[in-house]
Amino acid sequence: MTTSRRHSNSRRDSRRKNNKRIIPATLVKCSNCGAMKIPHRVCLACGYYNGKLVIPQKIKEKQPTK
Ligand SMILES: [Zn+2]
Repeated sequence: MTTSRRHSNSRRDSRRKNNKRIIPATLVKCSNCGAMKIPHRVCLACGYYNGKLVIPQKIKEKQPTK
């Protein structure tokens, strides 16, 4: 039987929990619409990435009612 119990399991687990990755809330300005977006991701505001339209946004078309 070892007596080298440095930390209890609960302490180790809590330490592990505290060791979770901190995601940096880094945002860059969209070169297309100027909205703040996640770098290297498609702009959720306009759907553009790297100057290309990746996600076509729903265009509000004037649909004649009836
Ligand atoms: Zn944009």
